[in-house]
Amino acid sequence: MLNIALFGPPGAGKGTQSPMLMERYGLFYISTGDLLRAEMRNKTDLGRAAKDIIAKGGLVSDEIIVQILESTIHDNPQANGFLFDGFPRTWVQAYILDGLLLKLHTSLTSLVSLEVPVEVCTERLLARATVSGRIDDTREVIEVRLREYKDKTAPVLKFFDERGVHQAVDGLGTVDQIFQRICDGIDRTLQNVQMNIVLLGGPGSGRGTQAGQLAAKYNMTILSAGDLLQEEIRRGSALGQKVSAQMEEGALVPDEVVIGLVEERIRSNSGRTGFIFQGFPRTLVQAYILDGLLRKAGSQVNCVLNLRVPTLELLQRLAARGRHYDLSTATIVQRLQAYERYEGALSRYYENSGRLHAIDGVGSTEEVFQRMAEQVDAAFRRAR
Ligand code: AMP
Repeated sequence: MLNIALFGPPGAGKGTQSPMLMERYGLFYISTGDLLRAEMRNKTDLGRAAKDIIAKGGLVSDEIIVQILESTIHDNPQANGFLFDGFPRTWVQAYILDGLLLKLHTSLTSLVSLEVPVEVCTERLLARATVSGRIDDTREVIEVRLREYKDKTAPVLKFFDERGVHQAVDGLGTVDQIFQRICDGIDRTLQNVQMNIVLLGGPGSGRGTQAGQLAAKYNMTILSAGDLLQEEIRRGSALGQKVSAQMEEGALVPDEVVIGLVEERIRSNSGRTGFIFQGFPRTLVQAYILDGLLRKAGSQVNCVLNLRVPTLELLQRLAARGRHYDLSTATIVQRLQAYERYEGALSRYYENSGRLHAIDGVGSTEEVFQRMAEQVDAAFRRAR
């Protein structure tokens, strides 16, 4: 979910930018001011309780705000994400926002604060007063509202600064210029979403080529357990020497060795977009462990792409490719069988958690890549 809060003094332009942002990002709009005005129009208990405070330019109690928000969020469970306007306005409301989004298993993506000098806000609000018909658009009340902002609302920015989600935007200029600045910031934030992909596919399925292209397009890091082991061997480390002996004897490298290397690599990658795991996990145990390792790093496997190519075609491709380890049909068959054994268990594991996507691996490299990219784009949308 993409959740944005538009922050700024009254008259900063939040209400003007909101419909454009809603449309661009497909968000559900929540303006606490509008909700309160609707309560007043409908003469509800909440509306009656809020009316005097609003007329004087003060802030309505956090108690009332949480009630109107809870019902609005509750009534719109299908929303792709929310755009909050005029909320949070107090330190307590910052915590309320956290709690409300946590209940939806999501969090605030970005708090955009529109920076506009007080004098400009006053001018804009006075101009609006002639057409808005709002009880609080009078010179006196505008002054109170701006003071309330400075005293109670502006300090809340610190809360979001500490979270690293605050984005300040110059609120002077044309509506389109300001909109562009806001979008640039949001789009940059979206690119920082961590995305981890597990790429399944038999030998000869084109997995290596596709992983390279995906990594380039989405700025991701390929993590191949085989490569990590080879690297250790090349470096001649103690671990490498042990592993090399095991591999020569035809034995499997123990899980704890592979897992240790993978864990180390995940740890050293903090801040990057994420990984494309290739050749790992290879067993059900490794799939469980990968989920655990990523959780520890505050991340997860978002998407599993299973590149499917009929066995007969894989056999043909491998024979045609003629790599030194694929020279006899017996070896090729053995490799295909080994893959089929672990692919079944892993597919079931990821299918049960709704992360598995079968990709038709027959066609040109570009066609197959297009199919994969569609799924990755969808996973990015979900992750946001
Ligand atoms: P707005 O439409 O956002 O300018 O809000 C108009 C008035 O509604 C404010 O001056 C407050 O009295 C009240 N109000 C709106 N949102 C909040 C909020 N989150 N917390 C407290 N009062 C609010």
